[in-house]
Amino acid sequence: MSVNNPTKFDRRNIIKSGFLLSLGTFLISKSQSIAGNSLNNSLNNNISDDNSQIAATSLIYPFTLPKLEYGFAALEPNIDKMTMEIHYTKHHQGYLNNLNKIIESNVSLQNLKIEEVLPKITNEKSDNGLKNNAGGHFNHTFFWNILTPKQSSKEPKGDFLTHIIRDFGSLDRLKVSFDEAAKTRFGSGWAWLVYDDNDRKLKVTSTPNQDNPLMNFSEVKGEPIMGIDVWEHAYYLKYQNKRADYITAFWNVLDWSKVENNYNKATLK
Ligand code: MN
Repeated sequence: MSVNNPTKFDRRNIIKSGFLLSLGTFLISKSQSIAGNSLNNSLNNNISDDNSQIAATSLIYPFTLPKLEYGFAALEPNIDKMTMEIHYTKHHQGYLNNLNKIIESNVSLQNLKIEEVLPKITNEKSDNGLKNNAGGHFNHTFFWNILTPKQSSKEPKGDFLTHIIRDFGSLDRLKVSFDEAAKTRFGSGWAWLVYDDNDRKLKVTSTPNQDNPLMNFSEVKGEPIMGIDVWEHAYYLKYQNKRADYITAFWNVLDWSKVENNYNKATLK
């Protein structure tokens, strides 16, 4: 993106607003304003499958956990219950706690949505705490949203499939490329499918730690369409060192309709 190109700049902002609005709408539609005890009650009930428990969520400070649309055990055997429970209640909550602490003492960030916080992170090193925890909250919220226990998730079709074929050759080739990015991300991080508005291409990339392709210093920038958490905390209890097996299982619980929604929003369709 170049700020010297007003058209591109405006378009990108519109796209970003659209994507983030959709993420916000998703969260808000699944939530009601609850804090403190209600959140704890919800967590103690393991986030029921029937959605009767409404977990607190917010994309504005103080940030809270988004509602899960499925129970912790619902993604078995692909992602085990204990991993889901710890990942959501401890890891994601940990990022939230740290993020809220950082923003508590940073008044200028208190009225911003999480997606508005991300671009404020301009210095990779000096903003490390904010980067890790704002990224952690955004990335995990994004990840929970694209997972599903439904086995009948339909693969891409229409414009999305056409775009995949144009940029990767086939859906299978996209999967191979995504798998490779996820397998070869050294240490902790994420693999992504993004839409780059600058050349209107779908690209596969990976980011270290809790970085993501919306951050200014990301090697490949773009709107996240699909992502996988390849931190060991995402798979080690069940898969130990076999990250590749976890990545294979990810495809079984991927909600292609959510991925396609992300694509449609990113491309303004
Ligand atoms: Mn994680």
